[in-house]
Amino acid sequence: MSIATSKPLYSGKAKDIFETEDPNILRAYFRDSATAFNAQKKGEIHDKGKVNATISALLFQLLEQNGIKTHFIKQLSDRELLVKKVKIIPLEVIVRNIAAGSLCKRLGIKEGKFLKEPIVEFSYKNDALGDPLLTRKYITSALEITNNETIDYLISESLKINEIFKQFFLEIGIKVVDFKLEFGYDKDKNLILADELSPDNFRFWDAKTNEKLDKDRFREDLGNTEGAYQEMLKRVKEGTKQDHKFQASTLNSQSFKVRVQVLSKQDILDPQGQAVEKALKSLGFTEIKDVKIGKEIVFEIKNGSKDIAKSQVKEMCEKLLANPVIEDYKIEIN
Ligand code: 5GP
Repeated sequence: MSIATSKPLYSGKAKDIFETEDPNILRAYFRDSATAFNAQKKGEIHDKGKVNATISALLFQLLEQNGIKTHFIKQLSDRELLVKKVKIIPLEVIVRNIAAGSLCKRLGIKEGKFLKEPIVEFSYKNDALGDPLLTRKYITSALEITNNETIDYLISESLKINEIFKQFFLEIGIKVVDFKLEFGYDKDKNLILADELSPDNFRFWDAKTNEKLDKDRFREDLGNTEGAYQEMLKRVKEGTKQDHKFQASTLNSQSFKVRVQVLSKQDILDPQGQAVEKALKSLGFTEIKDVKIGKEIVFEIKNGSKDIAKSQVKEMCEKLLANPVIEDYKIEIN
């Protein structure tokens, strides 16, 4: 396959995207330019393009080895990746393990606080508006970007990615503080991970010293930004020398107790409920109405997080535990 054409499709803050002869494949060229604070601060980080292209390639491969579908095809040169063309969902999916950045500013929390559970939040990918934080209803009802099912999928996929990264980076002495992901639809309408995975869109801290090894060095004028990027490249290269296949059971599993309550929908006839209602009334309990008899299913689930567990149980309800056409279900997870 030739990748010869040089028609730029799009020029971003740190990457140029080119078309190739295959309309479904793009070439991403990583530049050294750096921006921060919605492009109010601009500069260059020597060889950043090489570092980010290579770290991205290695991390996309790590994710693919662990069952995450991504747009990555191959690394073409030290600054270029070949990727599948996707239609990007205009959402920044941000995963946080430790308080930093805008979370600290917004909530007044001290930088470095370990969050009780990983947090997934969404921002609107819109520079003119400064990428504002979104609620679920903003996404589904105000902007109409996508639906609840897709939001659930993005949350559960991002938490899986977080578990893989937390484990991998711990092995190379790095704490994954937070990161930003972008997803898009490929030509077959599969929703896959896109964009890049690098110190530009992750916060990485040295596990022993808490030294910042990411774009915060540039944002906060801490100096030696180039050295920090090179250090991350060295460690990621070292760590990915051997294949990593993290079993679901090794991905920080926790046990949750699940209660699923299934009841027939309000307007669906429930003869058992009606019989009980009639009997109760004949015993003098005349105040009651709308008796429904349902079922309760109780079990334990082992999973990386409560949100992943919740989306799996939801899938179980839709596929087996309830009949969504005539029944409502309620999930309780503790
Ligand atoms: P915060 O919301 O604290 O500024 O950022 C959270 C995480 O997402 C950080 O790792 C940060 O690098 C990443 N992030 C947030 N917004 C952007 C963005 O517009 N571009 C890039 N490259 N990363 C972002």
